[in-house]
Amino acid sequence: MPVDGLHERRLLENFDNLGLSPLVLGNLAALGLTKPTPIQAQAIPHIVEGRDLLGLAQTGTGKTAAFGLPMLTRLIAFGKRPAPKTVRALILAPTRELATQIADNITAFAQGSPIRVFRVVGGASINVQSERLARGVDVLIATPGRLLDLLDRRALTLSETTYLVLDEADQMLDIGFIHALRKIARMLPENRQTLLFSATMPKLMSELADSYLKEPVRVQVAPPGQAAEKIEQAVHFTTQGEKATLLAEYLGKHPGELAIIFNRTKHGSEKLAKLLDGWGFSVGAIHGNKSQGQRERTLAAFRASEIQVLVATDVAARGLDIPQVAHVYNYDLPNVPENYVHRIGRTARAGRDGKAVAFCAPLEMADLRSIEKMMKKPIPVVGGQPHAEGAGSGMSKPAGRRPGGGNGGGKSFGGGKPQGKPQGQRQGKPHAAKADGGARPPKRASRRPKGERAA
Ligand code: AMP
Repeated sequence: MPVDGLHERRLLENFDNLGLSPLVLGNLAALGLTKPTPIQAQAIPHIVEGRDLLGLAQTGTGKTAAFGLPMLTRLIAFGKRPAPKTVRALILAPTRELATQIADNITAFAQGSPIRVFRVVGGASINVQSERLARGVDVLIATPGRLLDLLDRRALTLSETTYLVLDEADQMLDIGFIHALRKIARMLPENRQTLLFSATMPKLMSELADSYLKEPVRVQVAPPGQAAEKIEQAVHFTTQGEKATLLAEYLGKHPGELAIIFNRTKHGSEKLAKLLDGWGFSVGAIHGNKSQGQRERTLAAFRASEIQVLVATDVAARGLDIPQVAHVYNYDLPNVPENYVHRIGRTARAGRDGKAVAFCAPLEMADLRSIEKMMKKPIPVVGGQPHAEGAGSGMSKPAGRRPGGGNGGGKSFGGGKPQGKPQGQRQGKPHAAKADGGARPPKRASRRPKGERAA
């Protein structure tokens, strides 16, 4: 591809010069997508030509369209219907939610074409999925576990699959899908086009890339480990016992705005959601103990802003793309630093701004340091004091005078001094008093959510 400045500028201005099919271009226009994002401008011409590609890009960069648009262009040009039980293009994603999102996007890009898009994930009827696969599909979006189950049942064959996308491949490795991926790869034809997208490039990942990709073009839109610039990040030092009240203060400052709260454990997420609900917030929880139906209903309500607060574990929230999410709270710091990037990437999507506040208890200082090391910069402090325990060696420094002091938050994050009881967001809807007095928030530090990790 010529790389002179003029050519590159034209690529970035619109989708017309990227080699996409007229039908796909029409759908893009109808969706209001007029200007390619950097990963789209860089990747699409190579994919249209049939090259393998290694894309280093985080969520929110537009990578779904980067692989989806040229894939559809090639499938439409092929012009033949898939044979029964075969799949022309396979997209593997780490979670059900991401698979659903990809399927929704691809379906929208393929409107008006004969391309058949289907999604298979766990938690839904495998028989229904088998029946659908019997007719053959053009684009199958799957989580690796369910795909293997279906392959074991001989519900499909991958012998005709000449187009493979591994999305959020680093997360698939984190979740432990490496054996599943290897097994699936062995069933695919040697002669295929493979695209691998990952936000980070750990060693295992580059080994995987080496074994899956043939002379790949490498495109990178943000150095791995660096969060999108539009996210305003902050850390608030506190104790484990005070986190819930502090969170309620932050939430109370932004009524009506969508927030995702990350918690390390399913149990902790459930407890926190119940506590916030008791305090009058409009809240839902998604984690591995919820059924697929429950997860989908909660996400639909959150997307529609019917609930404003979503408490989630890392796995459940992977890849979520909800542009209205204005706040991410790291209630617990992730112990895998890369997860911090994924978590905060749930906000500042589709060109909007977003804020991400991390609550750091004394035992989490080491986690904070690992995150800052990976990000290669300190996270600004908006409240509390860095904890002792070798805290001096951490990169975070208190950001000068802070309004409110103590647990007080910086202005822009709306932390502020604790102002009595946490305020819920369901105005005009009194919460039913519970036997344990759940309608009234507990006094600070006197009652804390049970089941939270002890600091
Ligand atoms: P992704 O990184 O694929 O999860 O996409 C992130 C978000 O960017 C989604 O909400 C897309 O609809 C949106 N998006 C993708 N491509 C474009 C584009 N060219 N212009 C504006 N928004 C886009």
